Order: sequence, then structure tokens, then C-alpha cells
Amino acid sequence: MSRDITLLHPEVQAIIPKFLNECKNRGLIVKTTDTVRTKAEQDKLYAQGRTKPGNIVTWVKYPYSNHNWGMAFDICRNDGKGAYNDSDGWFKKVGQVGKSFGLEWGGDWKDTPDKPHFELTKYGDTNTLVKKYTTPENFKKTWKEVESYMFVNRNYSYNGKVKSFNVINEKGENFIRVRDLAELLNKNITYDKNTKITNLDDILNNVSIEVGNKKSTVKAINSNGFNFVKVRDIADFLGFETGYNETNNSVFFKLKNSIIEKLKIFKK
Ligand SMILES: [Zn+2]
Repeated sequence: MSRDITLLHPEVQAIIPKFLNECKNRGLIVKTTDTVRTKAEQDKLYAQGRTKPGNIVTWVKYPYSNHNWGMAFDICRNDGKGAYNDSDGWFKKVGQVGKSFGLEWGGDWKDTPDKPHFELTKYGDTNTLVKKYTTPENFKKTWKEVESYMFVNRNYSYNGKVKSFNVINEKGENFIRVRDLAELLNKNITYDKNTKITNLDDILNNVSIEVGNKKSTVKAINSNGFNFVKVRDIADFLGFETGYNETNNSVFFKLKNSIIEKLKIFKK
């Protein structure tokens, strides 16, 4: 039985840290346990209490558990009061938090409640998944990475004009949307569908940025079709100085020189 969260569907993976954090905020110290179950593991578990000794622990054969599809995980209590101690209604409280993140809680199942179990049924129950994809392997091919960038609001100023933008904060660095930067700096932005090049007409010479680091000039992040560039890098490339203005709480852009004419951003 795997305990590896990274084997789960990306959307489930994205929910888990938020879910654990919200539990913690409510004084519920939760630990994830089982995640993905292979066919061999599900078969073995199904045999337990039937053809093999032990108590019955599962009601379904492969691939009719959401654990087989990367859509389910189990949790236990991690506050030193006993992993499955539910004398104080602990699991129901955790279940409520899980549900607030769109998860289904096994404790709500009428016939066979499974309090440590959570699953995402957004793509349907296992019968639906079997009908649609036949095997978990086929389903996996449809998985897409979830964007989990952190957006923060920051003020920027140029020529005395202050603007507020949502920027991506990645490992302490801020990435601004190219379009927002153009707006701040009063530049026109055009996009050429054929060359897939975004031109930011500027006072600058041809500076090129390639998303994906091929040209290793400036790192850019693509989020929902928009390119975000690191504020510090881009300011430097564009010939701007940046600094922090405490009076209006903004990062200011000040022209350093005027040598560059065009900034080209290559789309992924
Ligand atoms: Zn489970």
C-alpha cells in the first residue's frame, strides 16, 4: 500500500496540503496514510477476511476502489491520542473540513462507513470511471498538472503612477504578468499568432525571453495562457531600476537608460 501522495491525481494532491492546514487551524492534527492501491494490493486486501485470515477491510474488488484510481486517500489522527481514537468525534470534524474542500468523506457512507477515507468524485464514481476509461492507466493519461502558484497583490509605480497587480509569488520572487507590466510602463503589447511572439514595444533593444528556459535569459511562468516574468529580471533587462517606496507601499520602476527597443517574449 503506497503512502506516496505524489501518486495521486494532481487535483487530489493540490487539495491535501490545504486540507491538512485547515485541520491544523482547527486543532485537528491529521496524517495521511494510504494513497494509491495497485491491483495486487487490492486483491490481497479483498482476500483478507474472505480467503485469508483477518477482518474484512474492503468491500470492493479491483478496480472499484477510488484508491485504485488515484482519487482517494486515508488519514489518521496524529496528536498522540491514538491513531483511530474517535471518542471525541474527531473524525467527523476532519470529515467536515474535507467536505469543505470538495472531498467526499467515507464517514458519510450509510451501509459501510469508512471514517478515515476521503475521495474526490469529481470525475464520477468508480463505475463511471471503469465505463469511461476501463483501466486506471488510461485515466492517468488524462491527468493534467494543477497550477498551484501563489498569487499576491503588489503595488508598482512608474512616473508617479501607482498600480496594483496580482503577481505570482514563487519562492520569494515576484512574477508580474507581461500585460500588466506593459500597462504600468505605458507600452503597447502585440501578439503575433504565426510566430507566437509577444512584442512589447519599448525603448529597449531586442531582448528575448523563452518560456521553458531554452534561451536561459529570463525565467517566465505561463499561467492560464499569460506569461509572468520575474520583476527583478525584467526591470534589469528593460533598463529600469527598481526599489521600494515606503510612502506609497510600492515597488517603483525608474528608467536607468534608454537603449533597448523591443522585448520579445516567446510563448510556450
Ligand atoms: Zn480509503
